[in-house]
Amino acid sequence: MFELLDNEELYFGDCKNCQAKCCDGREGIIFSQILLDEFENIYKNFPIVFIFGELNYAKPVVLLTNGKTLCPYNIDFKCTIYEQRPNVCKTYPLSANLDNQIYIDKDCPQITTIKDNTTPLSKDMKLSSYFQNDIFGIYQEKYIKTHYEFDILEKNDFKEVININSMAFYGYFGSHNSKYLEFHKSSLLNLNKYV
Ligand code: SF4
Ligand code: SF4
Repeated sequence: MFELLDNEELYFGDCKNCQAKCCDGREGIIFSQILLDEFENIYKNFPIVFIFGELNYAKPVVLLTNGKTLCPYNIDFKCTIYEQRPNVCKTYPLSANLDNQIYIDKDCPQITTIKDNTTPLSKDMKLSSYFQNDIFGIYQEKYIKTHYEFDILEKNDFKEVININSMAFYGYFGSHNSKYLEFHKSSLLNLNKYV
């Protein structure tokens, strides 16, 4: 569960001591919302699909797991596409947010208050240099740009392409076109890795 980063002095252990909890569908990891900037980096490896929230807006998400197993790119508890992994994987256990504040998932088992043999993570709501990422300060602006890119699409032009744990994920089959919709359509070939 993500919570707002607070004043606590935190450190990070080592992912080698964990069986890739953050890549595992059995731990509830299934998808993450993405920004326009990420489409080109991830469409060859992952399905980029859409969900509809309470306000019925189409939100693009990357499908990370099928809800039953590890991400298909996790072998022996290691990421095999480290350089191409989505932003959500790059920032975890931290997360950027629409309010431009930093959130942390304390369910990550390697977050600790112990200094010895660990890496500084945060203190007084500020990240150490090891965990800095530009996205934390500009997420809101990029989120809004992403929202308006798909806001013009008709909901009737979306069709369910996969259902995971009773949650529907949609593809766009209408006549509108853009480079992002092209990335989306090409990415659907990756759905066969998620059945
Ligand atoms: S980031 Fe946390 S949950 Fe993910 S592999 Fe490392 S220790 Fe495990
Ligand atoms: S891309 Fe890599 S880090 Fe991200 S969920 Fe898959 S295996 Fe884990």
